[in-house]
Amino acid sequence: MTEIIAILEKENPLLRLTEHCDIICENCPNNIDGICKDNKKVSSIDRRCLETYNMHSGDIIRWSELKKLAYNNIISKKQLATVCHDCTWRTLCFI
Ligand code: SF4
Repeated sequence: MTEIIAILEKENPLLRLTEHCDIICENCPNNIDGICKDNKKVSSIDRRCLETYNMHSGDIIRWSELKKLAYNNIISKKQLATVCHDCTWRTLCFI
């Protein structure tokens, strides 16, 4: 995850939002034939984030804009414990 964040920070790419497995999941042991072993939980987190950002699966956004949405709508409003309460990576958002 640290490497992925470094690439996102360096290249600031356009991202297509999804509620399913993506390129980040490519080498994850939880990715079983394109479906996350924890799909129910992960999809639920994705859906809550998309609702919070007023965006939809398939929308395209630049990394820096997505970070601003997360900061302005979740982190600065102290919503991490609500929107992201069951995310394994939540501690990264406190950095
Ligand atoms: S746990 Fe699931 S959503 Fe997270 S990287 Fe692995 S396959 Fe993707």
